[in-house]
Amino acid sequence: MHRVVITDCLEPPAWIEEGNLSGIAQVDCLMAKSSEVLHGQLVDADAIILYHEVDLTDTLLRGLKQCKIIVRGGVGYDNVDVKIAGELGIPVCNVPDYGVDEVADHTIGLMLGCLRGFTLAERRFRQATTLTPWDRHDVGKVSRTGDRTLGIIGCGRIGSATALRAKALKMRVMIYDPYLRPGMEKVCGGERVDLGYLLKESDVVSMHTPLTEETRHLMDAQALSQMKPTAYLINTSRGAVVDTSALAEALRERRIAGAGIDVLPHEPPSLEDPLIQLWQADHDPPINLTITPHTAYYSEAALLEIREKSSAEVARMLRGEAPWNVVNGEWLKQV
Ligand code: NAD
Repeated sequence: MHRVVITDCLEPPAWIEEGNLSGIAQVDCLMAKSSEVLHGQLVDADAIILYHEVDLTDTLLRGLKQCKIIVRGGVGYDNVDVKIAGELGIPVCNVPDYGVDEVADHTIGLMLGCLRGFTLAERRFRQATTLTPWDRHDVGKVSRTGDRTLGIIGCGRIGSATALRAKALKMRVMIYDPYLRPGMEKVCGGERVDLGYLLKESDVVSMHTPLTEETRHLMDAQALSQMKPTAYLINTSRGAVVDTSALAEALRERRIAGAGIDVLPHEPPSLEDPLIQLWQADHDPPINLTITPHTAYYSEAALLEIREKSSAEVARMLRGEAPWNVVNGEWLKQV
């Protein structure tokens, strides 16, 4: 019997995983809150499923004696050293499709919150003792959504699902993605443009790339300075794709109109984080900044789908079949 370890997040009973792995493996949930507590606990694991509360570091990976597969229950796998895993002959897989609709919906929600200004009015009236003027006074200057342009940076699964929703809202959609096959932008009704043009022309810029060495701080002070003063930035991808200190400064100095942020470089963020400090403070006039605690992926159906698909991937591998979603193929050495 194999041993499958679920490192974090999931509390037992792991009934979905045990169902998929019945007769193949026993399932242990470690519920780790940090990587340190995993030392010594993964040595005899035949497979690992991990979520987002731990990192599989070089040291942890080198301590694995018989691990045949690592599955990240989610899309982003920047918390696994996939290169080292590959060199050790361990395939790393993700679950790329469980939350495409949820994240696209959340992106559109953050965008509409910015464009329609309703979070500003909601925030003021919730605290107020006088409910006047009970009108459009606090929502800022609102333009018609269908007259606006959405610039999508990274047009993969979530970027293209967001583009389709924006088209339903009658928006113009521009796409920057150097790796997109020619013509794929037409599938979701977008126009392909270069990054400089997208930043200059968009009323909303929305980030949908993975976090890589190339995309880290893709939205830095220089990129933010190219946006219109009336434009909004939305990020539901990975926190470090945006330089959040530069974003806080741009918002404080009103160099852009606002932002909707679901992901931060360090989660949970510290109260000293400049963007959090800006968000929690009162400003006159208020700053149009909405932050959600990395919930874009979430729906009850999405959670069940992650668990179903990550344990099915492990079961395939332990049965001797090929896994479906290997992300470290370029480093994977057959051992
Ligand atoms: P995907 O791999 O399907 O698409 C990513 C796209 O980004 C690809 O088309 C790729 O060509 C493009 N890209 C890569 N480098 C680029 C660059 N330098 N400039 C422009 N484009 C570039 O990924 P996805 O499933 O659509 O996920 C997108 C992001 O959303 C990821 O960062 C993922 O981790 C994140 N995500 C967040 C949540 C959440 O809850 N907030 C949930 C799921 C996924």
